[in-house]
Amino acid sequence: METRDDVRVERALPIWSERLGLIGKADVVEFHADGTAYPVEYKHGSRRKNSWIVECDELQLAAQAMCLEEMMNRPVGEGAIYYARSKRRRVVSITPTLRVRVEEATVKVREILRQGLLPEPANDSRCEHCSLKEACQPQASGKRSPKDDVLARLLDPDL
Ligand code: SF4
Repeated sequence: METRDDVRVERALPIWSERLGLIGKADVVEFHADGTAYPVEYKHGSRRKNSWIVECDELQLAAQAMCLEEMMNRPVGEGAIYYARSKRRRVVSITPTLRVRVEEATVKVREILRQGLLPEPANDSRCEHCSLKEACQPQASGKRSPKDDVLARLLDPDL
């Protein structure tokens, strides 16, 4: 924990939502003087990214905001994505549309868990900087056995 001006900064903060069934760790959460939580997701690279990567980054940030709302019992209307290469922040509003997409994604993931089946790995440019690459082993497409524990590793909140 560190303090900058009136902002308390927590790194690798465990977060969760019982309603959504989510658990994880936020890279950084800033707590402002009025108690408002402000998640900041750190990403490699610069702000210039494919739109689908931007959408995934925003979805992740929105999920963090929704977890923090439930934990703190107060609204989180905004967060930011920090791009390490360009050392810039991009502010993201946690819009109703983003919230719906988070809800839809959690339903889909729960369905995957219920079925115990993993979709085929992308094994394309999306995997290049994916933080789950080590656990996922996307190049092992078609070689996953039913006993493979890839699903458990992918859903490990400590990864
Ligand atoms: S490494 Fe795995 S989880 Fe990451 S993008 Fe590729 S297929 Fe998806």
